[in-house]
Amino acid sequence: MPPDITALLSLQERDLRLQELRKELKRIPMEQELARKRLAAHQAAVDDAKASLQENEVAIKGVELDIGTRKESISRLKTQQFETKKNEEYQALGVKVTHYSQDIDGLETRELELMEKSDELKTLLAEAEIAYARTKGGVDEEVEMLQKRADQFSREAESLEGERKQLLVGIEEDTISIYERLLDKLGSPVVVEITRERQCLGCHVKATPATMVRVQAGKELVNCENCGRILYPQ
Ligand SMILES: [Zn+2]
Repeated sequence: MPPDITALLSLQERDLRLQELRKELKRIPMEQELARKRLAAHQAAVDDAKASLQENEVAIKGVELDIGTRKESISRLKTQQFETKKNEEYQALGVKVTHYSQDIDGLETRELELMEKSDELKTLLAEAEIAYARTKGGVDEEVEMLQKRADQFSREAESLEGERKQLLVGIEEDTISIYERLLDKLGSPVVVEITRERQCLGCHVKATPATMVRVQAGKELVNCENCGRILYPQ
């Protein structure tokens, strides 16, 4: 086996793990995003419930204002009734008072209905808030757990990068450049075994006897003629 193969295999061991770590580090933020999205639906339910309740409270205030206006009208009409000396006018004012009183009855019924609805909406809001809080606890925990894992992976990747740099010092530059080029193109592993049956374990294509002879001689780096990976004997 050419001496570089041993060094390349050490390098590859780091690169395989680095490849795995980078994949995880890319996946974790997406998982965190998914977890947060689970919360969004509950947040929307809380917002909706709040908006409905607020809308209902505004409607109640509107009805109360209408009742107030009519009560003022009645008291004004009663003053006019008190002051008038004409019987006809007195009667006419009385009709108006009755009319406004009926209005007030209707409005008070409406106000009661709206108040009942407010109670229902408050219950709905409380339920939505409980569901949100429960989900948020789980989501926060999951996001934090994922973050811890990402931090740990980042530290591991950093230390592997350091080891990698040290290993590169002992390898010939030409070899490194071939290795790096293959790594960019194919991803790890790029240094693979060739079986006794001459099969490249990278691409599973059978190599020529001449290639096998060169690999077994162990004097140079030999690439698979199909996939280009660097071959070493079993
Ligand atoms: Zn191959």
